[in-house]
Amino acid sequence: GIATDAAATVARDTLAHGFQYDLFVIGAGSGGVRASRIAANYGARVVVAESGPLGGTCVNVGCVPKKLFVYGSHYGHDFDDAKAYGWDVPGKPTVDWPRMIATKNAEIERLNGIYGRMLGKAGVQIVYGHAKLLDPHTVQVGEDTFTADKILVATGGKPFVPEFEGREHVITSNEAFYLPNLPKRVCMVGGGYIAVEFAHIFSGYGSDVVLSYRKDLFMRGFDMDVRTHLAEQMELQGIDLRFKTEITKVVKNPDGSLQVTLNNGQVLETDLVMYATGRVPLVNDLGLEAAGVATGKSDKIIVDDWSKTNVDNIYAIGDVTDRVCLTPVAIHEGNALADTLYGNKKRNTNYDNIPTAVFSTPTIGTCGLTEEQAREKYGQTGIDVYKTKFNPMKHTMTKRTGEKVFMKLIVDRATDVVVGCHMMDAAAGDMIQLVGVAMKAGATKADFDATMPVHPVSAEEIVTLK
Ligand code: FAD
Ligand code: NDP
Repeated sequence: GIATDAAATVARDTLAHGFQYDLFVIGAGSGGVRASRIAANYGARVVVAESGPLGGTCVNVGCVPKKLFVYGSHYGHDFDDAKAYGWDVPGKPTVDWPRMIATKNAEIERLNGIYGRMLGKAGVQIVYGHAKLLDPHTVQVGEDTFTADKILVATGGKPFVPEFEGREHVITSNEAFYLPNLPKRVCMVGGGYIAVEFAHIFSGYGSDVVLSYRKDLFMRGFDMDVRTHLAEQMELQGIDLRFKTEITKVVKNPDGSLQVTLNNGQVLETDLVMYATGRVPLVNDLGLEAAGVATGKSDKIIVDDWSKTNVDNIYAIGDVTDRVCLTPVAIHEGNALADTLYGNKKRNTNYDNIPTAVFSTPTIGTCGLTEEQAREKYGQTGIDVYKTKFNPMKHTMTKRTGEKVFMKLIVDRATDVVVGCHMMDAAAGDMIQLVGVAMKAGATKADFDATMPVHPVSAEEIVTLK
């Protein structure tokens, strides 16, 4: 078959090169696993090195456990809401946090196993340990050295925490996934995806949450209406938003609780301080200098449109590069690279109209340009904006506040093409995936309008916006 022919070709080519392997992949995360598996399927001799558990950030300390936490946190509201629908929930529901963590850990271990078997089945050799480049074709892992024709760096990123007094007392998302107890009070720091998601997770589980963000309004880069709507909803849910504040000092009290001083002089007592102030590439002791690989701002590896670094045989994908830090993007970059190098299918990743979700309550779904970007691109009067806000049907019964739905379409007036979609709804993660298909296909506002609504769901509003 195709794979066998490809194997023969690859083997002939690389024997000539005289290396042990065709491809050495550093990091078995979202991008590295996909690139390894696809390259091996084409017949390349692939080895992947991993210093932690298989699956990387997404599977172990990212998307997957985060989404499980999000599901768990929603029960906090669900027990209450059930009453309006006739359910009697006796007593006050309590949380057995260690049980939740144990169930989550078992699920993650199951996924680690699946990844191992999947790589094994594809014929990828897995080496456990920290990998380091010695030169452009040689990688060291522990006592062993490997030579390869091509190297792929897919080492991902790690949380960044700025310097301040008492920094040693704070945690990041990495530790949040393994907390022994549910903290009663949480101080979240940052204003991006992770800070917002975890503020909701802890709040949903019943913690009192303060969110500190350094500037006027969080979620920089998102549509302004989404940012303000999110702030309003979070406040209605009882999350204490402290914008324009920075932490200057954290002191541990004798009872183990923490005292936090803000730059406006306010002092907070809390049980947990979590920093979600961005992530930086994981390039420690990777030997990039020895191999001559150039990095740019904040150590991000510089690559061209084909994920190639400045060194001819070294490639990089995913969070370690200066592109979009999302799992499906890392996977796409890895797959496209393997197709290009070993599958005779030259392709790369297109970064336009990437749908994305932030798992706040309600969830944010966004695709394409923000209103601000669209005005910049098409001119102040070059766009039409359609938007709506309403109480979701479910909460007309429960009377819950803080979960208002928001939807917005931005349309290029000249062509009628939908160039931006921003929404907040319980189902926005799923909805934006499908709106993304429409936008990728170049759908116009008239196409949206011509689509029959599904009734009664929130999504019907997106095809009836006036
Ligand atoms: P990673 O998945 O980070 O994999 C890199 C791997 O390389 C790791 O396993 C690491 O141990 C290994 N490694 C590093 N250095 C070495 C070395 N020298 N030798 C050997 N191995 C090494 N994205 C989404 O799309 N949706 C989400 O909902 C989402 N939620 C997230 C929630 C959190 C809390 C975080 C932190 C991230 C989230 N992300 C989400 C982002 C997503 O996890 C990353 O974009 C994605 O994992 C990047 O994949 P990667 O292959 O570049 O790196
Ligand atoms: P983000 O880059 O999204 O946000 C970082 C936040 O920290 C910003 O609000 C930033 O403020 C703030 N910040 C940065 N430096 C400092 C500092 N020195 N002091 C105080 N605040 C600071 O990073 P996250 O850590 O939230 O997440 C990393 C990435 O992982 C995301 O961008 C996303 O790509 C991915 N991810 C995706 C998820 C999803 O798809 N649902 C979920 C989680 C993560 P400012 O805006 O002022 O610079």
